[in-house]
Amino acid sequence: MAHTLLDGLYYSNAYRLLERKYQGVGVILTLHHVVKASDASPFDINRLLEITPEFLEQTIQHVIALGYDIVSLDEMRHRLVNQQFNRKFICFTLDDGYIDNYQNAFPIFKKYNIPFTIYVTTGITDGTAILWWRCIEKIILQENQIAIEMNGKEECFEIKSLPQKREIFNKLYWHLRNMPLKPQHAVVLALMKKYQLSSEELCLNYAMSWDMLKELAQSPLVTIGTHTVNHLALAKLPVEDVKKEAALCRDKLSQRLHVDANHFCYPYGDVSSADNREFKIIEELGFKTATTTRKQVIYAEHSSHLHALPRIPLNGHYQQQRYVRLLLSGVPTGLWQSAKQHVQLIKRRN
Ligand SMILES: [Zn+2]
Repeated sequence: MAHTLLDGLYYSNAYRLLERKYQGVGVILTLHHVVKASDASPFDINRLLEITPEFLEQTIQHVIALGYDIVSLDEMRHRLVNQQFNRKFICFTLDDGYIDNYQNAFPIFKKYNIPFTIYVTTGITDGTAILWWRCIEKIILQENQIAIEMNGKEECFEIKSLPQKREIFNKLYWHLRNMPLKPQHAVVLALMKKYQLSSEELCLNYAMSWDMLKELAQSPLVTIGTHTVNHLALAKLPVEDVKKEAALCRDKLSQRLHVDANHFCYPYGDVSSADNREFKIIEELGFKTATTTRKQVIYAEHSSHLHALPRIPLNGHYQQQRYVRLLLSGVPTGLWQSAKQHVQLIKRRN
């Protein structure tokens, strides 16, 4: 459905009429994994976090052709604070610190001499974070049935065929994602034990090593940003733990890589994971900027919301340049925001 709507906007050229109103002053792009198409996850929710190196390269060529300045987060902040908007900007940001960023994305950014940011979750690099969404992926792919504790009782699902595996992955993903953190971890750790998976091994499989990060940190193209120690939904934590998650990650990056990792990114970044309380804490900790996964281009007004900056994802399900063009226009996300506000207004009136 979303594809149909976007295609309608694109092929009717309607986005061009609306672009002037919605395009804003720049865009921060979100990426996670950059992997070959043959290595993509069979599960939709994980695959949306994966784009191919070819798509990344085409996107870079596309934004250069459109006349954007590709800038670092420091430069973006400078332009916002000083309201310098004579040229539109784009920032590339990659979340979590995955090994494929080093192997597949770094060479492309080097080839075009383009600045980019890696938001590092130090627990992933250290192998201590729990990548629960990859854990259930691995178990579901390798087993024919899965038994998991759900709402206090053990449920067993048959997962022989790929459609069954996909259905159960979705079910378990949202079940776990919506759980409070402690029981979520207990369920995932019990699963790992049962199916003989090592959390550390799984994590290190996906992680960039400290040596790779060191090499990146020494490149003038790279900004190293803070993405917490354990990649937890901060809104579910007490204030003190939110502070620790951010500050300890920044301290470790400073110690290991000799950088000031003073740009922050909220894990998950949606409304249920980071909101006003978290924005305030991160600002008070002295971070220069912070990004969410709220989907929007950057407007001049964001200069007064530097700790709640929206981004536009490069989504694995939309790897065509017409979608990049549309999303950069700000029209789909702008229309969506206007529609939401309209509905809220009507609700308030009634
Ligand atoms: Zn993340």
